[in-house]
Amino acid sequence: MSRYDVIVVGAGPSGSAASKLLADSGVRVLMVDAEVFPRRKPCGESLNPGAVAALGRITGQLRAEEAFDFPFSPIQGWRVISGRTNLEASFPEGLNGAGCRRELLDHWLAQMACRAGTEFEQRTRVERLLWEGERIAGVIARSPGGRPVTLRAALVAGSDGLRSVVARNAKVNRYGPLRKAAFTARLDGVYGLNGRVELFTARDGKVIGLAPIGGGLANMTVALGKNHTAGAAAAGKDRAGYVLREAREIPELAERLQDAEVDGEVLACGPFDRPILPHHIEGLALLGDAAGYYDPLTGQGIYRALRSAELAAPAILQALQTRSSESIRDYGISRHEEFAFGTRLQHVIERLSRQPLLWRMALRMIGASSLLTSKLAEVIGDCPKETNACIPVMKSP
Ligand SMILES: Cc1cc2nc3c(=O)[nH]c(=O)nc-3n(C[C@H](O)[C@H](O)[C@H](O)COP(=O)(O)OP(=O)(O)OC[C@H]3O[C@@H](n4cnc5c(N)ncnc54)[C@H](O)[C@@H]3O)c2cc1C
Repeated sequence: MSRYDVIVVGAGPSGSAASKLLADSGVRVLMVDAEVFPRRKPCGESLNPGAVAALGRITGQLRAEEAFDFPFSPIQGWRVISGRTNLEASFPEGLNGAGCRRELLDHWLAQMACRAGTEFEQRTRVERLLWEGERIAGVIARSPGGRPVTLRAALVAGSDGLRSVVARNAKVNRYGPLRKAAFTARLDGVYGLNGRVELFTARDGKVIGLAPIGGGLANMTVALGKNHTAGAAAAGKDRAGYVLREAREIPELAERLQDAEVDGEVLACGPFDRPILPHHIEGLALLGDAAGYYDPLTGQGIYRALRSAELAAPAILQALQTRSSESIRDYGISRHEEFAFGTRLQHVIERLSRQPLLWRMALRMIGASSLLTSKLAEVIGDCPKETNACIPVMKSP
């Protein structure tokens, strides 16, 4: 008999949240990650209100300021700037997002999972799935010492992100047609940060995101559209210089970044469009980005990662109890249904954002109606319906 009921591959938000919820229910969980925590991850580093609320539910801490033990910045809404067009939207009264360093958030959540009883093996890279006929019976991983190890469990939860080895080995993921890349930097000395995620759209589908992440720092993510290969080549070894030059091409940013300096390494990543085929494989559940991802523009990935863990955990529990994977199939369907509208909206926003005239027209039209503006903020913020079931306004420590 295996020592574990579930092996969770990947300790990002989806993996740690699922491990915490499962361990809380008495499930024997082994979580493995290829990296050593705290580790950085390319990300705009802003949690929307839905993500903050999900964290509150998962950790059992209704007020995030009581739970977060690291610097963060409350985020009240977002601002989109395209040329001289400017659209500003606020999340509903009483709801906030949060900007923070991903390595601190992910480490904090992984620790919560461990406190709940999860065993956590770091520097352990899963190389492939262990198949027994048509079902998955565990994983083959590379141990910290470089040895191949076989880890068995009744179920494998693939939470290993965009480039999921688990999804690839199960032959269920694909590359989508959208080919974008991004550079993610931390900046010190940015003027005019105002508790909002700011998105500057520019030529060739280039989008620059700026968000306060606490501790006086801002995250700046430069996403490149169709010219991403040329961009990556232009960046060469001087990524810090490159992202600052790209951002300073926008007049407002030229002023606000005049004294800004890059703090730490600039991370590169892409492409992001990874659709998942419908599937039903015994012994497998996919969570977070590994279950399908499209584009970071609307900043909903962490919410979805956490929410998929919330939906998957009871389904995994039921599958273990009944020895049937019907509940996992149902989880896949409900996850798809829950995110379907948001995903369609993401596709529309992404396409519009690549056509400056239409994009500005759309921004002006939305901005002319306070109802439309707040509805959009609510949908993109994945704002919970019941405010009493989530975290109210947060204060930065
Ligand atoms: C440029 C960019 C900007 C973004 N900005 C935002 C934003 O501002 N807000 C937002 O909400 N979302 C944003 N996202 C999306 C967000 O980062 C992801 O949706 C989220 O991190 C998904 O969480 P996850 O747990 O599924 O995977 P991840 O956070 O990617 O975690 C996966 C984990 O699996 C581990 N792993 C990978 N392969 C293996 C292996 N073979 N064996 C063992 N471990 C493995 C990795 O080390 C990692 O720790 C952004 C994404 C990108 C690319």
